[in-house]
Amino acid sequence: MEVSNEDLRTRGDRVFVGTYARYPAAMVKGKGCLLWDADGREYLDFLSGIAVCSLGHCYPAITEAICRQAGELVHVSNLYYTGPQTELAELLVDNSFAEKVFLANSGAEANEAAIKLARISSGDGRYEVISLEGSFHGRTLATVAATGQAKFHKGFEPLPEGFVHAPFGDLQALEKLINARTCAILCEPLQGEGGVRPLDPDYLQGMRDLCDRHGLLLIFDEIQTGIGRTGSLFAYQQTGVVPDIMTLAKALANGLPIGAMLTTEKIAASFVPGTHASTFGGNPVVAAAAVTTLKTLLQDGFLAGVRSRGKYLQTALQRLADRFPDLLVGVRGRGMIWGLVLTEKGNSLGGEIVKKMFERGFLFNYAGNVALRFVPPLIVSESEIDRFIKELASLLEEY
Ligand SMILES: *Cc1c(COP(=O)(O)O)cnc(C)c1O
Repeated sequence: MEVSNEDLRTRGDRVFVGTYARYPAAMVKGKGCLLWDADGREYLDFLSGIAVCSLGHCYPAITEAICRQAGELVHVSNLYYTGPQTELAELLVDNSFAEKVFLANSGAEANEAAIKLARISSGDGRYEVISLEGSFHGRTLATVAATGQAKFHKGFEPLPEGFVHAPFGDLQALEKLINARTCAILCEPLQGEGGVRPLDPDYLQGMRDLCDRHGLLLIFDEIQTGIGRTGSLFAYQQTGVVPDIMTLAKALANGLPIGAMLTTEKIAASFVPGTHASTFGGNPVVAAAAVTTLKTLLQDGFLAGVRSRGKYLQTALQRLADRFPDLLVGVRGRGMIWGLVLTEKGNSLGGEIVKKMFERGFLFNYAGNVALRFVPPLIVSESEIDRFIKELASLLEEY
């Protein structure tokens, strides 16, 4: 049957729960930084499935790894070992602070594992987790409760107990929230959904000191910032602050569903057979894609290239900010995650700017109602960046 955008939209709107306000395009093919819809229109993708397809769409080595593994073994229970899963955990341990890995299927699940581990490993029933206002940690009940944005809570109360939120950037206010129930501080080294807001390294170090002083665990949610997005394999590596637990997901398998929780041997010891599990977590096909993703990112020069092209994107965005001061406040981000922070006038246009760029064949989104967010594949070229910026400039010119 012939499919078109309109056909798939009409059929989809009839049968899907309405959780997404989708653009009127049905994507059928991807290659590198390009996508094509069912009507044959081409898009330059600076969204990457929300910071997921970091090696671009259908990266040949990933496609090959998936196909090869799918011909060998697709799934067995975690009651048995498999090669790809073991190799993945080894790569994560060899390239981070961590000594132990738990594999899941999504970011929210990785955070659930982290929260459960923080509670059980407190050893004395402490359960409260402090996270930050403006944060995003997922859509399950516990991770929604951890998320510091009221709009994600509305209608779902009562939320699970044991989550409190500290104002962004205020160490004293954070310390005031610590009490006899507190077991952990949870934060993103750079808030992604919250509007591309990096946390100052001194602030992160302050959190580390508070955790050490009060016997709390420091959990970094690197679901969006990890796997090369900020220019190092993990964002914490640029801050000099080492967490006790780190969660990963999004880009880890370049598009296949995965989540991971990493920690030290000592903390991990609180999880024993029966305390936590996942049927699919570490699935061999997904793990094979993740192994290939990590090996690619770890190749000599790959992350240096990301940093250099990220700087190129930052500079181009800064020029836009200088040129359109009534719409744009400035640029913030790291590596290859950048936000154009909008002025009040710009904010009233944020959604419209994204929609008009979509109509012109350019994809990105509007994060936290404060910033246009650009998370292209890490392999994006300077000429693709030029094309994107030129089109955005010509649109901003119209306001
Ligand atoms: C996307 C995201 C999540 C949730 O991940 P899912 O895979 O959608 O459950 C959690 N934390 C951060 C920082 C994220 O960016």
